[in-house]
Amino acid sequence: MTEQTKLDQFTNQLAAVATLVPRDHKKVGKIAQAIYTRQVVTIVGVKTTTSRFLPVSHEGYSNETYVDKVELWGKTRAEFIARKLKGVERRAHMALFREKVETYLRNNGGGQQGWQTFFEEKFGKACTIPDSLCVACWNCSLFGGMEAGKGATFSRIRYFDTFSVEDAAECIQSDDSPEGMAIGNTVGEDLSVERSEASFHRYEYVKAETRFPFITIIESPTLLDVAGYLAAVKLADQHGYGKYSANHGKFKTEFLAVSTGYPLFSVLDLLTWLENGELTNPKEKLHFETAVNNPVTLFGEEIDEIRSKLDGQFRAYMEALTKQ
Ligand SMILES: [Zn+2]
Repeated sequence: MTEQTKLDQFTNQLAAVATLVPRDHKKVGKIAQAIYTRQVVTIVGVKTTTSRFLPVSHEGYSNETYVDKVELWGKTRAEFIARKLKGVERRAHMALFREKVETYLRNNGGGQQGWQTFFEEKFGKACTIPDSLCVACWNCSLFGGMEAGKGATFSRIRYFDTFSVEDAAECIQSDDSPEGMAIGNTVGEDLSVERSEASFHRYEYVKAETRFPFITIIESPTLLDVAGYLAAVKLADQHGYGKYSANHGKFKTEFLAVSTGYPLFSVLDLLTWLENGELTNPKEKLHFETAVNNPVTLFGEEIDEIRSKLDGQFRAYMEALTKQ
């Protein structure tokens, strides 16, 4: 018998890709299967800003924008709430999904067919975030959703609020009337005319090189869920998070560990460890406890191997959908 690689051991604990194929409910049509394997995959990493970032979850303030902040463990920290992280990564995941569908169809005799037709056929409608979710596709199976008259699928992915490692005094700055910021009432304005105080937008932002550790847990995961999540995060880094994300909120993400267990640490522990430079060898600090079987934990290049499985797993998903 050949010895299993660590990635094989990891994969063997996950659900089959066919569990992502929706069932056909007599009354309501296509709906994502409820899968409960009690297994989880935890992904741990650090996101570092590469540009100005405006984590803003509140509305209001006519011409002023404030970064969300909290007092936590002796520091004032920029706060990056779970709901915002999830929102951006869900959209990135959907963008990736649509692109992969179209590539697959092109390479498998589907011609230049758009994702919409395929979605309508396989999931009952062209799933659109946030107002017209199909509750049947891979994205809805992972991130959850509701549709009137059809029901709901629970989200299988859990996010946690995160905070800057650095103190506000170090990582938050404010500025006036920046070029490139979306300020509706200045578009088309004659810039040679001196502007009044009222047309300036005063805003705070998180500076580049600010670190936010994160923990994400996927329940009843397939290998496609994990590989797709890793790719979606990288895509979201390019698209941008936070307010004015067209120009701002770019990140680079380092994945520190991916495990089939629950974390024995929290985001707060990660903050302390990063502050003290204690995460240079993630293996020493990042420990996990049993979900179903003994956790298999991947680090460094082993995580890149999961990412390399995306295309093969996606193909398997498309084949499972087409076989129906
Ligand atoms: Zn959907």
